Amino acid sequence: MTENDIDNLAWDKMDGLLPAVVQDDATGQVLMVGYMDRAALAATLESGKVTFFSRSKQRLWIKGETSGNVLSLVSVMPDCDADALLVKATPAGPTCHLGTPSCFGNEGATGLAFLAQLSRVIDARAGDSPEGSYTARLLSGGREKIAQKIGEEGVEVALAAVTRDDDGLTDELADLAYHIAVLLKARGLGWDDIGERLRQRHEA
Ligand code: AMP
Ligand code: ZN
Ligand code: ZN
Ligand code: ZN
Repeated sequence: MTENDIDNLAWDKMDGLLPAVVQDDATGQVLMVGYMDRAALAATLESGKVTFFSRSKQRLWIKGETSGNVLSLVSVMPDCDADALLVKATPAGPTCHLGTPSCFGNEGATGLAFLAQLSRVIDARAGDSPEGSYTARLLSGGREKIAQKIGEEGVEVALAAVTRDDDGLTDELADLAYHIAVLLKARGLGWDDIGERLRQRHEA
C-alpha cells in the first residue's frame, strides 16, 4: 500500500477507524477482527506486525505484544468502497486470547484448508527434524525415497478406486495427498504452485 492508497481510504466516513479482518495467509481461515486508525495501519506496514487501535486500551495495540502470538503481515487490501481492510498474515501461535487459532469457532483450519495447515506442520518437521518423525525421515531420505512412496501410494489409490468403499478410498487419497505435500516441501514447492498451474490452464 502506497501513501496515496492510505489517503484514499474512507477515514472520514468511518470516523478514523476501519474494521480489519485478519485472514491466515496459508489456510484462508478468518482469525480475528480489529480496528485500525491511520497510525495503526502505518505501524502495521512499517513493522510487518499487525497492529490495531484498541478501543478498550485507547492506544495502539500490537497483536501479540504480551502473548507473543504476533501476526506477521503478508498483505493489506481495502474492500470495494475502501471502508474496511483485509489483512493477510501468518500467525505465530493461537490468535484468540482464549487459546484457539481463530476468534471465530474453536477449531483450526478444516476441510480443504487443512492441506495448507498440514504443509505448515511439514515445514516445522523439516526445521527441527525431531527424533521418530516419519516426515523428517522422508525429507532426509533424498529424492528416491519420496519418489518411491509417491509411486506406492499412487498404486494404492488406483487399487482402492476399484476395490474399496468411499471410506477406504479416502484413506488412500489422504495418504497420497500427505506424500504429495512432503514431495512439494522437498522440492521447495507448495500447494499454491499446483493451484496456480491449474488456474493458468483454465485461463488458456
Ligand atoms: P496479545 O495482544 O496477544 O499479547 O494479548 C493482549 C491482550 O489483548 C489480551 O489479554 C486480551 O485482552 C487482548 N486480546 C488478545 N488477542 C485478542 C483477540 N484476538 N481478540 C480480542 N482481544 C484480544
Ligand atoms: Zn465496504
Ligand atoms: Zn478471540
Ligand atoms: Zn496408502
